[in-house]
Amino acid sequence: MYSSQVCEAALRQLSRRRSQALATADARRDELFARVLRLKEIEQQLSAQGAQLGRLALSGGNPAQKLAEISRKNLALQQEQEDILKQLGLPSDYLDPPYFCPLCQDTGNVDGKRCACLTALMRVEASKALRAPEHLDDYTFDTFDLSYYPTQGDGPVSPHQQMQAVLNKCRSFAESFPCNGESLLFVGRTGLGKTHLSLAIASEVAKTGAAVAYTSAQDLIDRAERAKFGRDNGNDAEFVQGALTCDLLILDDLGTEFPGQMAAVTLFQVINTRLLERRSTIISSNLSPQELHERYSERLASRILCSYSPLPFAGNDIRLQKAMK
Ligand SMILES: [Zn+2]
Repeated sequence: MYSSQVCEAALRQLSRRRSQALATADARRDELFARVLRLKEIEQQLSAQGAQLGRLALSGGNPAQKLAEISRKNLALQQEQEDILKQLGLPSDYLDPPYFCPLCQDTGNVDGKRCACLTALMRVEASKALRAPEHLDDYTFDTFDLSYYPTQGDGPVSPHQQMQAVLNKCRSFAESFPCNGESLLFVGRTGLGKTHLSLAIASEVAKTGAAVAYTSAQDLIDRAERAKFGRDNGNDAEFVQGALTCDLLILDDLGTEFPGQMAAVTLFQVINTRLLERRSTIISSNLSPQELHERYSERLASRILCSYSPLPFAGNDIRLQKAMK
């Protein structure tokens, strides 16, 4: 359940979309009618037909013949309108409001049920309560610099080659999102670009209108604890709800949080629920798979290690390299 704040924000956004679609249609009509008078006449005749249809329904009797005549005229008018638009090089629906969601015409309602577009808006609004890192725009795929990764290494694959593969995978993940709910596990030491690439994915995915949330493991646990014990500072419960339901959750720094019952319960709930509901998560961790096993319960470790696609980060600490330059 979303809070009333989230619902109201989503409804406001919906009504903005609708007003914008109607305003666009009005502007297009004004402009076109000034150019092509016949289009204005067609619209007037169409609406006159509509009024006639209304009167006919009230008059009773046997209106079948009259009805057929009206609908024939209507079709002819619509055809003429379409032909004129075509001659002008415009699509046949050019005079209709360009609704964001044609299904519900931006009302949020289809046959008395909540439209999927409104549900999506609520998820986006709920995820706004989550912490968004500053300078998100600095972290793009294009600013990810592979030259920091050595082309020579101990193993058969150099860190440079390894990271090229990681980068390719991250790009394709972002491009094909929601990827059937695939989840990624970024593993590797500090300073190898895990946060950079997770944020690059986050900003690409967010551009598609999906609800993306970013949080660290410790922050998530703190919020869950405050919400549970009634020390909610206003949006902690919302934050946790957003972490459960957003389309993509970035859970940073797993393994650096204080261990304990609350940590174990919160992490399992978020990770397990998202897996069951096929919502993608990207976890980044300095812990190796072996260390994940040692640190977490069997059921949590196996959820992550069996269900996430692992991406091992290689190389030498980039922050250190930058600092030494
Ligand atoms: Zn809709």
